[in-house]
Amino acid sequence: MSESQVTVQCPCGRIIKDPSEYKLLYLKKEQNEIDILCPNDTCYLRELGFVKFRVDKNGEIKLEKASFYPPFVTWNVARMGREKATKILRDHLKWIYSKGIDWEKIKADLKKKEQSE
Ligand SMILES: [Zn+2]
Repeated sequence: MSESQVTVQCPCGRIIKDPSEYKLLYLKKEQNEIDILCPNDTCYLRELGFVKFRVDKNGEIKLEKASFYPPFVTWNVARMGREKATKILRDHLKWIYSKGIDWEKIKADLKKKEQSE
């Protein structure tokens, strides 16, 4: 398998070889949403996807939805076909929510917020 077949690409041209290259930003705290950003600082799309979660009554975080936005998905489907693109992007999302996001830190943030309210 050649390298281009296992890497995804942002429409801005940036190749993403490994899901650890995405930037994860936890800015939309009120909405419990984490943005998945393109590693290219000058990217015109910037946001490639998101991870949404909720907090149950015990303060445990539950993943609600993790998804990439259509422009990014469509671009990669066009490059490598739907089946392959879907699989790789799914793997990337899995890595992001299982390894990429510092859930402990988010939990600590939420606790802090709770106490200040
Ligand atoms: Zn980009």
